[in-house]
Amino acid sequence: MADSTHLETLAIHAGQSPDPTSGAVMTPIVLASTFAQDGPGKHKGFEYARTGNPTRNTLERCLAALEGADHGVCFSSGCAAMTTLLHTLRPGDHIVASDDVYGGSFRILDKVFRPLGIETTQVDMTDVAAVEAAMTPATKMLWVETPTNPMLKLIDIAAVAAVGKAGGATVVVDNTFATPMLQRPLSLGADVVMHSTTKYLNGHSDVVGGVVMTSDAALAERLRFLQNAIGAIPGPFDCYLVLRGLKTLPVRMERHCKSAASIAAWLGAQPGVERVIYPGLASHPQKALADRQMAAPGGMISFVVAGGLPAASALLATVKVFVCAESLGGVESLIEHPAIMTHGSVPPEARAALGIDDGLIRISVGLEAEADLKADLEAALAAARAV
Ligand SMILES: *Cc1c(COP(=O)(O)O)cnc(C)c1O
Repeated sequence: MADSTHLETLAIHAGQSPDPTSGAVMTPIVLASTFAQDGPGKHKGFEYARTGNPTRNTLERCLAALEGADHGVCFSSGCAAMTTLLHTLRPGDHIVASDDVYGGSFRILDKVFRPLGIETTQVDMTDVAAVEAAMTPATKMLWVETPTNPMLKLIDIAAVAAVGKAGGATVVVDNTFATPMLQRPLSLGADVVMHSTTKYLNGHSDVVGGVVMTSDAALAERLRFLQNAIGAIPGPFDCYLVLRGLKTLPVRMERHCKSAASIAAWLGAQPGVERVIYPGLASHPQKALADRQMAAPGGMISFVVAGGLPAASALLATVKVFVCAESLGGVESLIEHPAIMTHGSVPPEARAALGIDDGLIRISVGLEAEADLKADLEAALAAARAV
């Protein structure tokens, strides 16, 4: 089954087969923290559950198959995945990262690893020459996130990967926003893909998790060592939930993208909307790259409402179908205000430089009826205009 090349089939079957002891069609949740040995060192592949757990192993195989990787290593959150991956570096090593990486990723780079002697330079990676210019002989890793959050800029993965390869740096892509359904970074030359499985991969807003995937055998071995040594592992129940969520990832992404494309085009024609940012719109400066690099432009839209913070606040207080909350990628539609919510910890000057102004709103388009989502936004926009 797992030798299919179709992601729809892999999402359901990769790494999985009916349980040999009972025939159970779905992967059992194995809760045991330790596994019986026939004699010292004579075990069935499992000893202690931090080191390996059958439910987690199954999830790791399925995720790796979806990204076309030989190895997948799961963690208790996207941040734990990133932190463990960064522990492959040494003091004195240098990282080049995109300028609007996820806030938590910036915090790890700036507040956790910089004090340990691992410096990061942030550049606008839509400019490949700027990436090249920021690299030094000490640069060991390029950290790419595309589409970016919340400005939905796109980074040319193949071009940045080529620059990284030439400079001897490991190229990592945070593929959380796109998922393997829309873009597969390893096939574009990246060395490593990471995800917050909290978002689209689980897809139901009821798990926090992360994963790192690679086909570099030596790096995978080091990651396995660090997964066990550091111990930021996901629990078996969470692994089961993500595995279950993955089965519908292909159909969910299809609907997320279809509704988002329709809502993005519609939003542009609504009074009080100053600007809509969506990689599938002709007005997006990187529409051509979106067409080339992504199977579809995704389920996330950002837009600017006229009237700044008061108007944006009224809009977010009026929605009834959209839920005002951080995060993204779930079945339910979410709406948030980046300047106050997800990007509140970014200094105002940096926010301004990135274009995150007070009228900017980000939505994660869920799976509800498109008509209900548009009607909800229509009423909220009317409330925003009345401020
Ligand atoms: C949410 C997110 C993370 C962090 O993942 P957690 O599971 O919240 O720790 C990293 N990168 C991106 C792009 C995210 O959206």
